[in-house]
Amino acid sequence: MRVQTWSVGEFTITKVVELSVEVGLLDGLIAEATPEVVKSVGWLCPDFAIEDGRTLWDVNSFVVDTGDAVVMVDAGCGNGKSFPMQPVWDTLDTPFLEGLAGAGYRPEDVDVVLLTHLHLDHVGWCATRDAAGRWVPTFPNAEVWVVREEYEAFRDPAEVEWVDSAALQAQRELMYQQSIRPVEEAGLLRIVPADAPVAPGIRLYATPGHTEGHHSVLVESDGASAFVTGDFIHHPIQIAFPDWSSRVDVDPAESATRRRALFEWCAGTDLVLLGTHFSGPGGGRVVQDGEGYRLVPVGASHLDADS
Ligand SMILES: [Zn+2]
Repeated sequence: MRVQTWSVGEFTITKVVELSVEVGLLDGLIAEATPEVVKSVGWLCPDFAIEDGRTLWDVNSFVVDTGDAVVMVDAGCGNGKSFPMQPVWDTLDTPFLEGLAGAGYRPEDVDVVLLTHLHLDHVGWCATRDAAGRWVPTFPNAEVWVVREEYEAFRDPAEVEWVDSAALQAQRELMYQQSIRPVEEAGLLRIVPADAPVAPGIRLYATPGHTEGHHSVLVESDGASAFVTGDFIHHPIQIAFPDWSSRVDVDPAESATRRRALFEWCAGTDLVLLGTHFSGPGGGRVVQDGEGYRLVPVGASHLDADS
């Protein structure tokens, strides 16, 4: 198994890929990104799109190791979960924990799991089934952090017009029972203010728009920095076209404004942008490119001991 890592000052960040999304499944999520447009952005192929203009997506977690703390950002879909609204991810059986082991971490090594937002493909590994079939925390020593605004919006959601609200509510309840409640019952869930310090060099960064309380994660060490997107940037085509938001964003204008602001801030710097759904190298540096921006992949990979 190939393990992708980035050195950020004294810290190491490792990508753990849960799955590669079926090609084309998420085309249409960004309405403007037709195959013709995708093909016209040359740098997207072959890492983030294929030649016919269909887009590539992965589901990734990032493990930030400061030397003193092991912090996982987002927790994928998880195995054996029920997803009536996303049936291709129903009852998955992926080697996510083997991937984590390949990166050198056991579940008990994880100190904190940061959830950028409460959607089904970001919280699943918070809980796994035990031998008796009960959902229990996967990472027995880890606090699971959710920003208060996100948690409250999840428990009392606003109506959205693009989806059947009864079906959405049923899916949310399943997700809560299978992934969040086991952590809550174990006393490991922490509902935190947005400015809560995670660990020295790691902090939450407000990026609302995809959801009400969405937060990305900024990592800084020794003058170097990295930024884990969550769904604030769903696909790298939004780097070329920052104003294009996802159909599923609760506030598309807000997420577009925040993307432009981030790129204006980080373009041309050494900040490594790490995408929760970016395929291929999974991350890179942002540089100005005409009216938009471009991602220049950066990172190092090595083979783990079992390969
Ligand atoms: Zn997502």
